[in-house]
Amino acid sequence: MSVLITNIGELVTNHPERDADPDLGGAGPVPGLGAADAAGAVPGLGAADAAGAVPRRVAEQGAGPAGPGSFAAMARAALVIDEGRVAWTGPASRAPAADQMVDAGGRAVLPGFVDSHAHLVFAGERGAEFAARMAGQPYRAGGIRSTVAATRNATDDQLRANLRRLAAEMLAQGITTFECKSGYGLTVPDEARSVSIAAEFTPEVTYLGAHVVPLEFESNPGGYVDLVCGEMLDACAPHAQWVDVFCEQGAFGRDEAAAVLVAGQAAGLQPRVHANQLTAGPGVQLAVQVGAASADHCSNLTDADVDALAYSDTVATLLPGVEFSTRHPYPDGRRLLDAGATVALATDCNPGSCFSSSMPLCIALAVREMHLTTQEAVWAATAGGARALRRTDVGHLGTGARADLVMIDGPSHAYLAYRPGVPLMAGVWRAGERVA
Ligand SMILES: [Zn+2]
Repeated sequence: MSVLITNIGELVTNHPERDADPDLGGAGPVPGLGAADAAGAVPGLGAADAAGAVPRRVAEQGAGPAGPGSFAAMARAALVIDEGRVAWTGPASRAPAADQMVDAGGRAVLPGFVDSHAHLVFAGERGAEFAARMAGQPYRAGGIRSTVAATRNATDDQLRANLRRLAAEMLAQGITTFECKSGYGLTVPDEARSVSIAAEFTPEVTYLGAHVVPLEFESNPGGYVDLVCGEMLDACAPHAQWVDVFCEQGAFGRDEAAAVLVAGQAAGLQPRVHANQLTAGPGVQLAVQVGAASADHCSNLTDADVDALAYSDTVATLLPGVEFSTRHPYPDGRRLLDAGATVALATDCNPGSCFSSSMPLCIALAVREMHLTTQEAVWAATAGGARALRRTDVGHLGTGARADLVMIDGPSHAYLAYRPGVPLMAGVWRAGERVA
């Protein structure tokens, strides 16, 4: 059944086709409705497709043939969903008929958020640690161990129920794709069940056995790296797409991190790295060297780190909820963008350093604290996240994209930063189905 969403105040497509070409009616911020009307009768889907059959592509670094381009939006727009995909976008005045119609009432519609960094397989909570931190105690990587103890003691069903609740919380807030890491088990069976349970909820599963060295290996960290690269990897790789490592003082150094990533690649996993969160360490350079899809955090960068990320295939994924929740300085998103890096925003939802699943919060922080424009921040939370997961079917609303979209209570994307802390989700669709 096809669905027409019409009377959209601003449709953010992140896709150059149609809106790049005035003749196709999209034409920038305010389309020429008269000209579009003059182009002829309301097209059926076939006619619309024919009109856009040879869309003009805007060259974008790293953009796949069907993937997201730069931020792109059209006013007074409509969108048709058919069989779970975006079948048509264009001016509302030219919208084709569909089986069902939704009147957006002038609200903005955007691609669903793509959260490329989250730690959702865990038990317990660390509210008291947060309160202590706000009272002046510093955040250290070792705090992860308290969640490790709780996670090891939890049943599969407890872990599954917690993940189900968090996934629903994300979806209700517009996150239609999320990545999920292991990393709170740190034994072979606990990591294996973590990735296995994560795989029940998302295809974007990351093996993070190298999150922190567990207490029982404190005097033998090399032995733990061997386990992560050997038996634990063998047990986890069948359930995961990605391998990750927390490359940081107090966690894993450069050589250990490189060993984990290379072993993961040999097992068919693609690398991503927790890099340069607390110190300007070797993580970013390592991520670029191994061709990681993403270097995450990037809160402490040297000029050489910025140069390495610029125009690379490694996305700089910024997690401003962490700086908010740890009271650390924010990463310099403006510097990265100006240098030519691709920037994504993600929640890093986890029980320790940031227990928020709110992408609108990340957008507001990116605009307010990291000097991204509202367009850059929304792109980073949608198309940027897709780029960080090497996905071309999400993060944009070009024809053929998966119909993952959010409708917000406001006429433009800017409302996500302009009205911080306000629940703005007026509708969420995933794969064409309205889920909120
Ligand atoms: Zn993380």
